[in-house]
Amino acid sequence: MPDGLYKPYNLAFLAWSRKYALLYLDELPMSQDPKIGFVSLGCPKALVDSERILTQLRAEGYRVVSSYAAADLVVVNTCGFIDAAVAESLEAIGEALADNGRVIVTGCLGARAELVREIHPSVLAVTGPHAYAEVMAAVHEQLPRPHDPFMDLVPPQGIKLTPRHYAYLKIAEGCNHRCSFCIIPHLRGDLVSRPIGEVLQEAHNLVQAGVRELLVVSQDTSAYGVDLRYRTGFWNGRPLKTDMQTLAMALGELGVWVRLHYVYPYPHVDAVLPLMAEGRVLPYLDVPLQHASPRILKAMKRPANSEDSLDRIRRWRAICPDLTLRSTFIVGFPGETEADFAELLDFLDAAELDRVGCFTYSPVAGAPANALPDPVPEELKQERQARLMERQAAISARRLHNKIGRSLSVLVDAIDAEGVAIARSAADAPEIDGLVYIGDGAHLPVGEFATVRVVDADEHDLYAESAAPPRRQRRPGRNPARRRTRT
Ligand code: SF4
Repeated sequence: MPDGLYKPYNLAFLAWSRKYALLYLDELPMSQDPKIGFVSLGCPKALVDSERILTQLRAEGYRVVSSYAAADLVVVNTCGFIDAAVAESLEAIGEALADNGRVIVTGCLGARAELVREIHPSVLAVTGPHAYAEVMAAVHEQLPRPHDPFMDLVPPQGIKLTPRHYAYLKIAEGCNHRCSFCIIPHLRGDLVSRPIGEVLQEAHNLVQAGVRELLVVSQDTSAYGVDLRYRTGFWNGRPLKTDMQTLAMALGELGVWVRLHYVYPYPHVDAVLPLMAEGRVLPYLDVPLQHASPRILKAMKRPANSEDSLDRIRRWRAICPDLTLRSTFIVGFPGETEADFAELLDFLDAAELDRVGCFTYSPVAGAPANALPDPVPEELKQERQARLMERQAAISARRLHNKIGRSLSVLVDAIDAEGVAIARSAADAPEIDGLVYIGDGAHLPVGEFATVRVVDADEHDLYAESAAPPRRQRRPGRNPARRRTRT
């Protein structure tokens, strides 16, 4: 019998008689997996606790071994019922420490952690009875788990519903604003930023899995880290401040496109623009402005006013002239007059945004805006939406037309049935912006970058030829169905 310990068949008897047993659960050949010795003392309830812990250990790939010498660490499930049981438990801990040296204590005596530590100060951790999660956490801390039963069957980047070459990266949940038309803070609560190390690890895993474009999303990306007071996190042993600029800079080091969505025109966003000008992150910002009339913005309880937004946009373009700006607006908000709407159209003329989406206001159950007076008739909302989109179409078309003749780096999304490559440039987020059609791009690899030359444009899309065109050249047909849904 190895190391003078007991076989499992007499475990129950031994437990009742307050003897202890180092369990034989694994007689398979030794491997590199971390090995745990387990001493179980006490009554049948403690025995069941031991069974649960051992089951979890095996599920996570730990081996349970039958000698102190073979174990990387020993868990002692103690008894504290009467003085004799306490003495026996302390003795068992002492033996495990002497023969192995790395001991985690759990069970009834664990409830008297100060006593255990007083007599055996070198134990690694002490947890109480029924503390399965705590015991497992203490084991993980000492011996990283070789297998995660919940995660090992999925790839490190998780299951993605997007094509292999781009992925959304959610950096926070919830929102600290209280826009009157929105119930998201009610549904999801206040802003909770993910730790920067966790976000960067996910981004790294995605890039390793073949992702070429990371789409950073949250309810308010510019507020990232506010809730954590911009505390310092770590990634790869490197200290990093939890804020938008640091995150953008670190993501930019991964060597893929990084696109920032849902950014508000706060002053601190200015610091991200040099990163765009230097090509570290895409020169693209998705800034949901919603309106331009100060009266309506106030009724909406929006976090920015239009004058500041216009100043900011000008400043951003001065830092990064190639910046693409996308925004969304709501027309027909309660109380919106023709003068308010005219202000919005003037703003569009002044801001010259590249991409614009426009929604008609519709009440959401539970939103404070529902109680506002002077609802706008549905027909008038529709009419304003059409007028806004018409005004913007001319602006977008002009800005796209300026790209004719330029060389652009694009990411190829697909090759259609006619051999036309469908790609996107830095100015085009998937699903919501335009596309770049490359008539002679059948040879371009899907999911990879290519350089193309723009030969034509309309108010939504660009038409290009590949930099090294093959023999067949053809301009693709336009796609009216898709166009109807574009904004
Ligand atoms: S609209 Fe956006 S910023 Fe406003 S409360 Fe909703 S999620 Fe927050």
